[in-house]
Amino acid sequence: MILCSTNDPRNRATFREAVDRGIAEDGGLYVPVSLTPFTPGELAGWKGMSLQETAFAVSRRFLGDEISPAPLRRIVEESMTFPIPLRRLEEDTSVLELFHGPTLAFKDVGARFMARTVAYFHRGDDREVDVLVATSGDTGSAVAQGFYGVKGVRVVLLYPSGKVSKIQEQQMTTIGGNVTALEVQGTFDDCQRLVKQALTDGEVKKHRRLSSANSINIARLMPQMFYYFHAGLQVGVSPVFSVPSGNLGNLTAGVLAHAMGLPVRKFIAACNVNDVLPEYLRHGTFRPRPSVQTIANAMDVGNPSNFARLMAIYGRSREKMAAEIGGFSCTDGQTRETIRAVYRKLGYVLDPHGAIAYRAWKHEQGMRGQGIVIATAHPAKFAEVYDDGMAAGITIPPRLQACLERQKQSVRISSQFDDFKSFLIHHT
Ligand SMILES: *Cc1c(COP(=O)(O)O)cnc(C)c1O
Repeated sequence: MILCSTNDPRNRATFREAVDRGIAEDGGLYVPVSLTPFTPGELAGWKGMSLQETAFAVSRRFLGDEISPAPLRRIVEESMTFPIPLRRLEEDTSVLELFHGPTLAFKDVGARFMARTVAYFHRGDDREVDVLVATSGDTGSAVAQGFYGVKGVRVVLLYPSGKVSKIQEQQMTTIGGNVTALEVQGTFDDCQRLVKQALTDGEVKKHRRLSSANSINIARLMPQMFYYFHAGLQVGVSPVFSVPSGNLGNLTAGVLAHAMGLPVRKFIAACNVNDVLPEYLRHGTFRPRPSVQTIANAMDVGNPSNFARLMAIYGRSREKMAAEIGGFSCTDGQTRETIRAVYRKLGYVLDPHGAIAYRAWKHEQGMRGQGIVIATAHPAKFAEVYDDGMAAGITIPPRLQACLERQKQSVRISSQFDDFKSFLIHHT
């Protein structure tokens, strides 16, 4: 697999180089130079395939010979250890439940695959690698869990102080071992900026080997194609995927799956009021801005980094992008209303992120056919959103309960780069 930077297609990398660097040296993100799509004939036999088999076939095609079949199979099997059921809710609507992993959010998929890929690439290497993760909520604990106990890796999480839920904070700050949580006095965008800056800072790189693990890393993005293939081929027709969107990693993975031959009728980028992409799709202007806090806080992103990848994939054409992706955004009030309405009508509890995707699918004008609504988090993680009647209907999974009872451990830093730099160099 050859990838190139979104800033300059002449800057190329192998998959391994792209995984190690996180972002390209010119500050761009890595995208595949070309993809070899599966033909309809090749996909014809996939319908009954297990998630793991599908994952192996997709990653094998994507990676070429960069990881040989036996270790790749092992990575896939150790990553895809939980079910991703597609639940029929209504005649034309199914929910793809991505929240049955260790941290109860969809980022477990990418994080587990990435952790095992990094560990595989660095087998037999004695220099420790720092994996940097900026998180607006769920990424942190997913990645940290993915890497927990992996030899030769130190995980450094950065999260915006006071801007994640209590549960999310507990999940990030109670892991221990090779995981350190940094509580940044700033926003998620500050956290993301700090990571980007560290990855290209010469002095830090002299002292530490760095990698990143938020949705900009290709090893996190690639495995997110697995469930698009697995679910998409189950419904029998080209589905519409409604994708709860923040940093646009999930959406980009869907678009790549489509480029690899998966029939898709349309994607919907379902956003909260942080609607930078829907606005671009409408007006052709990309206007990053400070993020606004919402109840779907894993999507509170004001400058979505994977926008650069979408631009590269669609040749910088708004028309081409809008032909495949519809934009939608809604307020917290509308999200709550959707949660209540779906519960009343169907007895199904959506989390706020999934609820936005459900609403987007129902509101998108003139769209017929089969909708696959992606549900990215377990409702138990957002207890404060539900009224008493509904809250009683949500079972708190035991692993979540256990982590709520542990003692929080974090290191507070400012949003100044020098603070972060000094932590990376001196705190080992
Ligand atoms: C991260 C996250 C999202 C947004 O996904 P992106 O790939 O950043 O667009 C949506 N829902 C949940 C629960 C998340 O954790």
